[in-house]
Amino acid sequence: MAFDKKEPLRDKHGQIVAEALRNREKWGQSYRARALKLFPPVCARCGREFSGVRLHELTVHHRDHNHGNNPPDGSNWELLCRYCHDNEHSRYEDTQYFSENTIDQDDQGPGLTHKPFANLADLLKGKTKP
Ligand SMILES: [Zn+2]
Ligand SMILES: [Zn+2]
Repeated sequence: MAFDKKEPLRDKHGQIVAEALRNREKWGQSYRARALKLFPPVCARCGREFSGVRLHELTVHHRDHNHGNNPPDGSNWELLCRYCHDNEHSRYEDTQYFSENTIDQDDQGPGLTHKPFANLADLLKGKTKP
């Protein structure tokens, strides 16, 4: 009986995660491409210019640290090189860690059998045994 309840739930969860991952990749590519069209390939902090193969060292930073906030006029974006980007984020580490870690744990969920917190979650919900 308990198995009937469990299976469809897990399936649905896997689908939602896969979809979220797809959307995240799609948006990740498109806002980067759009930002690179809007701004010159120059780091906004140190002023270094990036072109050709080195362009990938330039990252799109979100001024409000919300990766879901992508206004078409680019007002939330800033092009930063990897080093300046790291610097910028070390100041915001706590918030960033929290929001990104939540997503990352979900992404890895369905693909891996090793889930260190799966048992903990079950324990908290009080359903260790079916
Ligand atoms: Zn820089
Ligand atoms: Zn950033």
